[in-house]
Amino acid sequence: MVTSRSYDVIVLGGGPAGIMAAIGSARNGASTLLIERYGFLGGMSTAALVYPWMTFHSSAGEQVIKGLAQELVDRLRERGASPGHLRDTIGFAYSLTPYHPEVFKVVAAEMLQESGAELLLHTSAIDVKQENGVIDSVTVYNKSGIETLRAKFFVDATGDADIAYRAGAPWEQGNENHKVQPMTMKFRMKGVRTDRIKQYMKEHPDQFYEKSMIAQLDDVPLTAVSGFFDLWNQANLSIPREGVLFFIGPGEDEALINVSRVSGLDPTSASDLTKAELEGRKQVLELERFFRERIPGFEQASVSAAGTQIGVRETRRIVGQYVLTGIDVLNARRFPDVIARSGYPIDIHHPEGKGITANFIREGGAYDIPYRCIVPRQVTNLLLAGRCISTTHEAQATTRLTPSCMAIGQAAGTAAAIAVRLGCANTAVPIDILQRTLIAQRAELGLSKDGAAHGG
Ligand SMILES: Cc1cc2nc3c(=O)[nH]c(=O)nc-3n(C[C@H](O)[C@H](O)[C@H](O)COP(=O)(O)OP(=O)(O)OC[C@H]3O[C@@H](n4cnc5c(N)ncnc54)[C@H](O)[C@@H]3O)c2cc1C
Repeated sequence: MVTSRSYDVIVLGGGPAGIMAAIGSARNGASTLLIERYGFLGGMSTAALVYPWMTFHSSAGEQVIKGLAQELVDRLRERGASPGHLRDTIGFAYSLTPYHPEVFKVVAAEMLQESGAELLLHTSAIDVKQENGVIDSVTVYNKSGIETLRAKFFVDATGDADIAYRAGAPWEQGNENHKVQPMTMKFRMKGVRTDRIKQYMKEHPDQFYEKSMIAQLDDVPLTAVSGFFDLWNQANLSIPREGVLFFIGPGEDEALINVSRVSGLDPTSASDLTKAELEGRKQVLELERFFRERIPGFEQASVSAAGTQIGVRETRRIVGQYVLTGIDVLNARRFPDVIARSGYPIDIHHPEGKGITANFIREGGAYDIPYRCIVPRQVTNLLLAGRCISTTHEAQATTRLTPSCMAIGQAAGTAAAIAVRLGCANTAVPIDILQRTLIAQRAELGLSKDGAAHGG
C-alpha cells in the first residue's frame, strides 16, 4: 500500500453533490481532490440516465435554487445542451430542466478544473482510518493499486454514505420496516413522435395525471407525461407501476422512460444490486416492446441507451445534528442555519408494492435544509452532501432530487473549506460566515439583508 498525497479537503463521489462540493471547496481556497469510481462525472444523472433535473423552483414559481447549480445550467445553455428551466407539463413540479448528459460530463469537468480542484476517476473509496472521531485518511482502490489519501476535511458525496458509514457515524435506512424506495433502470427511446403523443393526450385527458397541462400543450413544449393509464392497464405487464412516466429529450425525438421498477432489494448489498441490474435490463426490453406496440408516437421508436447502472433512489441516511422531517418540508419550515432550499414535493415510490405518495409543500412554498443536516454525529472532520444527508425517509424523498443535492454540495464544500481555514470542527463552522460566503457565490438562501430567514 502506498501512502502519498495530502489535501485540505477530499470529496468522495463525483455525482451532482460531489461535483458542487469540490468546486465550492476549491473556489474557497482549499486544496481539493474529488474521487469518483466511474470514468466520468455526474452520478445518477449520467450513470443511471436520471433526467431531467427537478426542480429549481417552488410550485408557486419562485426560483429557490441558484448558485453553482444555476451556473452549470447557464453553461449548458451556452453550449446548446440545455434549454434552461421549462414548465413540467405533468404539473407535478413547477419546472424541470432538461440537459444533455454527455455535455454535462464535460462541462462539470471544466468547472472543476477551472476551480483548481484535482480529479481522480476510476477510483473507489474502500475504507477510512479514523481515531476518536477524526478521519485521518481514506483508502482508495484503482488500477494503480491501493492508496491512502490524507486530508484535513472530508465530504461524503457517495450517495450511499460509504465513508460516513465506515467512519462509524450513526445511520438509518428506509421506512419503518427498513425498506427503501424501489430501483429503476432508466432508458431512452429515439424516433418518438411528440405530435402523436399530444393528440392522444388531448383526446383522452382523463387517462393522464390530474394536474397535467393538457389544455396548454399548444403554448408550452411537451416536456413530461404521466398517464396512458388505460393502455398501461390493458397491457397487464408484471412491472408494479400504475402508469407510464416519461420525459421528452434531450433530442426532439427522444424520450427518457422512467417506468421500470425493482422493489424489495437493498442497494447496499452487492448480491441484491446484481439481481436488480439483471431484472432492470429485462424490464427495459419488455417495456420497449410495450411502448412500440401500444403507446401512440412510439411505433417507430427504439431503445437508444440504458443506464450504465440501475438508478438507486435511497440507501443510508446518516443521522446528523438535526434530522429533517416530512413535517418540516410540508410546513415550508425555515431554519436559522439554512444552507439550501427546495420546493420539490415529497415523492415516495412505495418501497413495497405499487404506488407513489405525493405530498405538496404548504402554499406552494419551499423548505430550508439546515447546516446541521450535513453534520454527522461522532465524526468531527466530515460533512455530508447529496442524498445521504440527515433526514427521515419522508424528507429524503424530496432532498434527494438533483438540484437540491447540488445546492447541498456547494454548501458542504464551502463549509469544509471554511473549517480548514479556521481550523475548526464541523460543529463549529460559523453559520454567518458560511451563509455570507454562499450568498456571495449566488446561492439562494431566502435570507433578508439583515440575515433573517423570511417567508413561511
Ligand atoms: C430512478 C431515479 C429517478 C430519479 N428521478 C429524478 C428526476 O427526475 N429529477 C431529479 O432531479 N432527480 C431525480 N432522481 C434523484 C437524483 O438522481 C439522485 O438522488 C441524485 O443524483 C443524488 O445525487 P448524489 O450526488 O447525492 O448521489 P449520486 O448521484 O448517486 O452520486 C454519487 C457518486 O458517487 C460515486 N461513488 C459512490 N460510491 C463511491 C465510492 N465508494 N468511491 C468513489 N465514488 C463513489 C458514484 O459513482 C456517483 O458518481 C432520481 C433518482 C433515481 C434513482
